[in-house]
Amino acid sequence: MTVYVSTRGRAGRRSFEEVLLAGLAEDGGLFLPESWPRLAEARLAALDGADYPTTTAAVMAPFTRGCFEEAELLALAREAYAGFAHPATAPLRQLDPSLWLLELFFGPTLAFKDFALQLLARLFERVLERRGETITILGATSGDTGSAAIRAIAGRARMRIVILHPAGRVSEVQRRQMTTIEAANVANLAIEGTFDDCQDLVKALFADPEFRAEQKLAAINSINWARIAAQAAYYVYAALRLGGLERPVSFCVPTGNFGDVYAGHVARRLGLPTGRLIVATNENDILARFLATGTYAAGTVVPTSSPSMDIQVASNFERLLFELLDGDGARVAELMARFARERAFTLSPALHARARGLFDGAAADRAATAAEIARWHAATAGTVLLDPHTAVGAAVARRLRGGVAGPLVLLATAHPAKFPDAVEAACGVRPPLPSHLADLFDRPERFGVLPADANAVRDFVRRLPAVPG
Ligand SMILES: *Cc1c(COP(=O)(O)O)cnc(C)c1O
Repeated sequence: MTVYVSTRGRAGRRSFEEVLLAGLAEDGGLFLPESWPRLAEARLAALDGADYPTTTAAVMAPFTRGCFEEAELLALAREAYAGFAHPATAPLRQLDPSLWLLELFFGPTLAFKDFALQLLARLFERVLERRGETITILGATSGDTGSAAIRAIAGRARMRIVILHPAGRVSEVQRRQMTTIEAANVANLAIEGTFDDCQDLVKALFADPEFRAEQKLAAINSINWARIAAQAAYYVYAALRLGGLERPVSFCVPTGNFGDVYAGHVARRLGLPTGRLIVATNENDILARFLATGTYAAGTVVPTSSPSMDIQVASNFERLLFELLDGDGARVAELMARFARERAFTLSPALHARARGLFDGAAADRAATAAEIARWHAATAGTVLLDPHTAVGAAVARRLRGGVAGPLVLLATAHPAKFPDAVEAACGVRPPLPSHLADLFDRPERFGVLPADANAVRDFVRRLPAVPG
């Protein structure tokens, strides 16, 4: 069985199933496998040419031992990705001789988060059936997680979902994708605050043992290990398509909560030969600053044209910290406590160098992002339209690619139609919504509005109708 431990070292050893349902460990830490499982090189080589669900099942199986067999994962992955609007599921598009775009926006809500969440909803359902339990999924979103999670969970048995988004800080398409889903097991809350406030509220409610047990809270944020494991699959899939066993492939990843790029690191730990992993941030550049200086210090959240990355506390960073500190949970807990108090800590030069050995990073501001959308639009006669998140990655890739040998893959994390205002402002073209979302602006919306107050959210959840068993 694959065993999981908490980054803060004070939770018990857990199975994949327990980690899937719990999300956050009871000591406030994040789960990681006790030791990294490996995929043998022959196994990786055999995946060359495999379809996307097959790759997903092979990549996830080492992390689900004792809970899900590879064949069961494969059946669930086939179902999860059947609705994606591209036969390759995650197609690669060549931009120039050494740069590729990995298009991760063909899922039902037009962002990469569909990859993990479509699968997670099915994993949850299986596990809850086995255990005869019900759950309340509670999550914070900067826009795309919420829509992908709601879409994946709506109408499923044994679970309901409550999603908090920062009022007025998500795009209208993002908000409507959440608030127009008509299902009895879905509730939306607009919180008067930032994404970080929403995330803090979720953390506070998870840290309340009584409420957590009473509601059987489950998390679907990128702190949930199963999401990270599911996302590792597209790194393997893309690298193998580019001959990644012979020439290590590098990735440039638009980053907020450090989940997606960390999944690239997981693929590397699993055995995928990997070149550089580049962290691309917008003006909310806590990670780019950390990589430059060794100081992890929260700034004030600045609203940008790439709202899903408007984050100053990158939750998954704690997983990297645990690894940098050689699995010393007590030291992780100490640093995170200091961060909670002082909003900053500095790593030793040796630890900083180790982090720099694993990740590169830089930030791109709003102007550079818009210029990148316009540049690719002009250079390709309008055939490549980047969404603003992907454009942050494109701007950073342009700056850092000199230091990268071999192929570089830029993750296209959202469809441009999800952020039509920013795209139109940058290049004059308003990308149309795909046909399955064409009536989005005509559908009625449903959501509550609350202050950034844990008691208010707790009361709201308690007043919801019971979850059907
Ligand atoms: C969530 C999101 C990101 C950031 O991903 P993290 O896992 O938080 O680093 C980037 N782009 C888009 C479009 C997103 O939805």
